[in-house]
Amino acid sequence: MDSLVIHFLGTGGGRHTMSTQRRRTAGIRLVNGRNNIHIDPGPGALVHSIYAGLTPLKLDGIVVTHCHPDHYTDAECLIEAMTQGTTRKKGVLAAAKSVIDGNEETDRSISRYHQKLVSTVTRLIPKSITKIGSVSFQAVEALHGDPDSIGLIIDDGEHGKIGYTSDTELIPSLIEAYSGLRLLIACTMWPKGERLEGHLNTDDALQLIKEVKPKCVVTTHYGFRLLNADPLKEAKWLGEESGIPVFSATDGMRVTLNDEILIQGSKKSDEPIM
Ligand SMILES: [Zn+2]
Ligand SMILES: [Zn+2]
Repeated sequence: MDSLVIHFLGTGGGRHTMSTQRRRTAGIRLVNGRNNIHIDPGPGALVHSIYAGLTPLKLDGIVVTHCHPDHYTDAECLIEAMTQGTTRKKGVLAAAKSVIDGNEETDRSISRYHQKLVSTVTRLIPKSITKIGSVSFQAVEALHGDPDSIGLIIDDGEHGKIGYTSDTELIPSLIEAYSGLRLLIACTMWPKGERLEGHLNTDDALQLIKEVKPKCVVTTHYGFRLLNADPLKEAKWLGEESGIPVFSATDGMRVTLNDEILIQGSKKSDEPIM
């Protein structure tokens, strides 16, 4: 059985973290033996994938959860790479409706020209399922500034279900949607005690974790206030309060799913954690 590896190419979220690159905003790369998929390629996705040795030429899918720049700006560059410099009609673009068509708030985030370069364009509408190779992406309702925002349940049929909240407030439907996960990737923008409309803070993350009881949790997508509060401390608190292992993502961190879940920092000297 091949492993499923989740590369946290970026762990920053929101305007201020993006503008300063205090944490990168390059999104997540998912790699198993057969598929190579980029999720939420914000600014830096192209450059940091190449620096990490994950060539975008091998991509077979790009997934974008909503129309905010920290989630989509490098998508067109990655489409050009995925299609071998626009020479081969190839790959899947699966994205929120706002990203594909625009909505009452915004124009489309990815040009019609780029949408025509890929083999398949799918709109991620809550409860819909899109397959990219062996990996399925089920869209989950989200409540965020972009009304078409969605979260994801990712399943390659071999390594257990992975939830990715993307940007959302804690709404009751998340509890049912994210139950039964092996790994929850929680985008926690702000720290405990500080509330931000349309986002999870650490208190919301705790409530969600206690309700859905995943086997393991990784927090990511940090705004300035959470970075100031220290993501490590916030994750430690979440782990103590919930009794579930919670890890704070760092730029370049890899999570490998096999019989066990292995977490490794970006440096060669970083000891893996089981
Ligand atoms: Zn965001
Ligand atoms: Zn957003």
